[in-house]
Order: sequence, then C-alpha cells, then structure tokens
Amino acid sequence: QAKEQGRNGYQIYDESMNAKALERIILESQLHKALKEEEFIVYYQPQVSNQSGRVVGIEALVRWNSKELGLVEPGRFLPLAEEIGLVIQIDQWVMREACRQHKLWLDAGFPPVTLAINISGQQFMKNELLETVTSVLKESGLDPGLLELELTEGVLMAHTERTVKTLQALKGMGVRLAIDDFGTGFSSLSYLKRFPLDVLKIDRTFINDITTDPDDAAITLATIEMAHTMKLKVIAEGVETKPQLDFLTKNGCDMYQGYLFSKPVPSTELPRLFNRWQ
Ligand code: C2E
Ligand code: MG
Ligand code: MG
Ligand code: MG
Repeated sequence: QAKEQGRNGYQIYDESMNAKALERIILESQLHKALKEEEFIVYYQPQVSNQSGRVVGIEALVRWNSKELGLVEPGRFLPLAEEIGLVIQIDQWVMREACRQHKLWLDAGFPPVTLAINISGQQFMKNELLETVTSVLKESGLDPGLLELELTEGVLMAHTERTVKTLQALKGMGVRLAIDDFGTGFSSLSYLKRFPLDVLKIDRTFINDITTDPDDAAITLATIEMAHTMKLKVIAEGVETKPQLDFLTKNGCDMYQGYLFSKPVPSTELPRLFNRWQ
C-alpha cells in the first residue's frame, strides 16, 4: 500500500499525524493531573538595566516538570491548556508561587526588583483577575509596585472598552503594566496611548536581526523613540549577542532580557545571579 502511494510520503504523513494526535491525548490527560499534583515550576529570567548593568527585574516563566515527560516548555503545553480551559488555573498558580518566592527573596535582603508575570488572554478577560491579584498581593505581602503584569497586543486590542477599565483598576492598585511581544500584532503606538502602560517589550523577532537587517533596526529605533515620548520604559527581548546589546544601548533602550545575560533559571539559581550582579 505504501509503495503504491509512491514517494509522496502519505504514509509518513499519516503516521506523524497520529503521533501528533497521540501526543495531544497524552498531554491533555497529563495536564489535568499536573495541576492537581502541582507539577509546574516557575523559572525566572533577569531583566537588566542598560545604564547600570544591574538586574532590575525578573520575569516568571512557567515550566512543567512532568514525571512522565520530563521538563516541558510552555510552548508545548500552554496552547493546549488554553484550549481545554486550564490556562487560567495555571496562570493563577504561577502568580501565587512567584509572589510568594519573591517575598522570600526580599525578606532575605535581595534587591527590590520588579516581578513580571505573564497574563493569558483568558485570564485577562475573566472578571476575577482583579480579585486574583488582590488576594495574591495580600497573601504574599508583596508591594504592588513590584508586581508587573505582561499582556500581549492581541489581548489589549480585543475589547477596548473593558480593557481600559480593567487596566485602570489594576493601575489603581499600584500594579505595573507591560505590553509583551510588541510588534507582532497590528496595534499602532498611538492606539496604545489610551492604555495606562508602564513598559513596552520589543519582541525578540526584531532584536534577532537588529544588526544585520536595516528594517528591523529602523522599526526598533522608531519603537524606542515613540515609546519614550509616551513615557514608557523599553525592554528588548531575546538579546543574545554583544553587538545587539551595543546597538540597543547606543540607541537608548532602557533594559534588556536575553541569553546574553542569562537563560531563565530555577529559583535556587537566582540568588547567585543577584549576588554576582549587584
Ligand atoms: P514571553 O513572555 O515573550 O517570554 C520570553 C520567552 O523568550 C521565554 O520563553 C524565554 O525563555 C525566551 N527567551 C528569553 N531570552 C531569549 C533569548 O535570548 N533567545 C531566545 N531564543 N529566547 C529567549 P519560554 O519560557 O519558553 O516562554 C514562552 C512563552 O510562553 C512566553 O513568551 C509567554 O508568552 C508564555 N508563558 C510563559 N510562562 C507563562 C505563564 O506563566 N503564563 C502565561 N499565560 N504564559 C506564559
Ligand atoms: Mg512575557
Ligand atoms: Mg515576549
Ligand atoms: Mg511570547
């Protein structure tokens, strides 16, 4: 049969489809268990000031430490978690855990850096977001000014009226707001003016070729300049090389985050990074 189909690889295609479907079934059943048994862990990636060279923030990034599958990256399970309605619970768990951990670091004398948390579209659209943030802050005792919520363009663009209200309420609590992956959506900076944001994160697809692709360089420069006129701080994501960093520093980018400084690390490794860079 396979031979009859010639060399088009239908057979292989079928098998890989089956493998995909199988992975999905396995992931789905495992994900429910993962929440129950708290198999998720939070990694942290430092955000560094271009001016001082110091760590000024950390971003919490979830991983799934599965007994069956090993360490699973968010790209492999978050889309499915969104589909089956588990992402809100995962997000809430991450926020709780990261705020708890950050308070421990602060109490131990580590510097009062910002803690950035990713908020999925589903969590943002839920009315409970305000309640969740309120209760997590109360529970952990973390200063609201040290908590930064990262939202993507898509989430902000979806429902303008309500979005503005929610963001204003969060601002009212003293929480900081960031727009993540900027440049990948279709929003213009002038549109963003209506949102009370503090930070803009330039997506790493632009940073990647910043020293070789004049278009990416121009987009990045224009973004930094306009963000600054809007009083936003700018973080470059995915900085991997010294030439990229030099370009960004020369052009007034405020902070950077990327493998050049550090990959995301488990909580046990963060004190070492703090100590080395203060
Ligand atoms: P993001 O929020 O844009 O996070 C940055 C991603 O870029 C992270 O991937 C990080 O490991 C990666 N990265 C950082 N520096 C570099 C670099 O120099 N080079 C390269 N190639 N990559 C770099 P990660 O941890 O796999 O997370 C992927 C995405 O998953 C995140 O993108 C975010 O959208 C989502 N995510 C992660 N944790 C959570 C969470 O707790 N809740 C929600 N809703 N989403 C999350
Ligand atoms: Mg992020
Ligand atoms: Mg991003
Ligand atoms: Mg992303």
